[in-house]
Amino acid sequence: MKLAKRTQKIKPSMTLAISAKASAMRAEGIDIIGFGAGEPDFDTPENIKEAAVICLKEGFTKYTPVGGIDTLKEAIITKFKRDNGLDYNKSEIIVSCGAKHSIYNAAQVLFEEGDEVIIPAPYWVSYPDIVALSGAEPVILETSQENGFKLRLEDLKQSITSRTKGIILNSPSNPTGGGYTKEDIEEIAAIAVEREIFVISDEIYEKIIFDGFKHISIASLGDEIKDLTVVINGVSKAYSMTGWRIGYTAASKEIVSAMTKIQSQSTSNPVSISQKAAVEALNGPQDAIVMMVEEFRKRRDYIVERLNSIEGVSCFKPLGAFYVFPNISQLYGRRYGDRIIKGSLDMADYLIQEAKVSIVPGIAFGADDFMRLSYATSMENIKKGLDRIEEEISI
Ligand SMILES: *Cc1c(COP(=O)(O)O)cnc(C)c1O
Repeated sequence: MKLAKRTQKIKPSMTLAISAKASAMRAEGIDIIGFGAGEPDFDTPENIKEAAVICLKEGFTKYTPVGGIDTLKEAIITKFKRDNGLDYNKSEIIVSCGAKHSIYNAAQVLFEEGDEVIIPAPYWVSYPDIVALSGAEPVILETSQENGFKLRLEDLKQSITSRTKGIILNSPSNPTGGGYTKEDIEEIAAIAVEREIFVISDEIYEKIIFDGFKHISIASLGDEIKDLTVVINGVSKAYSMTGWRIGYTAASKEIVSAMTKIQSQSTSNPVSISQKAAVEALNGPQDAIVMMVEEFRKRRDYIVERLNSIEGVSCFKPLGAFYVFPNISQLYGRRYGDRIIKGSLDMADYLIQEAKVSIVPGIAFGADDFMRLSYATSMENIKKGLDRIEEEISI
């Protein structure tokens, strides 16, 4: 069978493959502790579920406008004003089927063959593939743990060529938990404006932040950078609504209308019921977020301290999101029984087989020296899982 070449340009999501392996072992009755989750472990807040029930009962179950209902766009506009100091109108907002879909549509609209798109590593697994599907070439820019996993300006300047069309930023970051300060993004914005580079700013973790870290949207730094920025956000992470599939984009009218055209010929509108639920999420009480962030902070403090107490492991303390990304490269080359750990894939395999713990190897995020552990799981699981990891890797 001869399938289109684009099917070979991309790989299936490695994070989903790891979850599948853990599920298969669980089905065999093996007690696996999972650190793989890419979603909050809390239920969607009651008021949001209730809004969906009312919507169903009222029969709001038909097609909606492609880019989302007016009340949701208005709620999103209010959110941008309130949280980010950003002014948009309805023609600058589009709602899609999850933030991943928003990023996909944006890439389809902005990038094509011959373009280069800069992606700082460690990156979210889907960015390089989404860029590749647009026909453009992902240009991976390494960052370091010492620098808080933030890109260095000299490196950014050096990686820009006449073909550079965009850069994808994600702050706070999945997988590292790193985040950019206002000063950092001011410098990046100045370069983007000078070189006329589009910025896709994935702000899905803006609410999950710790220790007084302030999230600043790069689009809020001035009109010139706002015109070049595509702000991506959604309700999946902040409101524990991953299954509802609502993401949204704010950008210039030209970009949003092109994204709407693409969406009109592919998925059409996001689910009508989810849209009403998202209105409640954005306009309703926000206290569920406070509770969730406080719980994540406690788990983060515990997990970072435990990991750093293991010889050969060094873990950056995240400013946001719900992942830790410890450096485990000092363990590479060690022999455990009859195996030698040579990289993050070997470590993932060793830990699931011997410790019965699933993690995601750093190589999935373009950083083989690391592994990702999600702390979107109970404190009890975190304790048990870390005991097992410590026992298996300490010699
Ligand atoms: C979870 C996640 C998304 C996508 O969220 P959905 O709205 O569920 O599609 C986008 N970016 C990052 C970095 C994420 O971790």
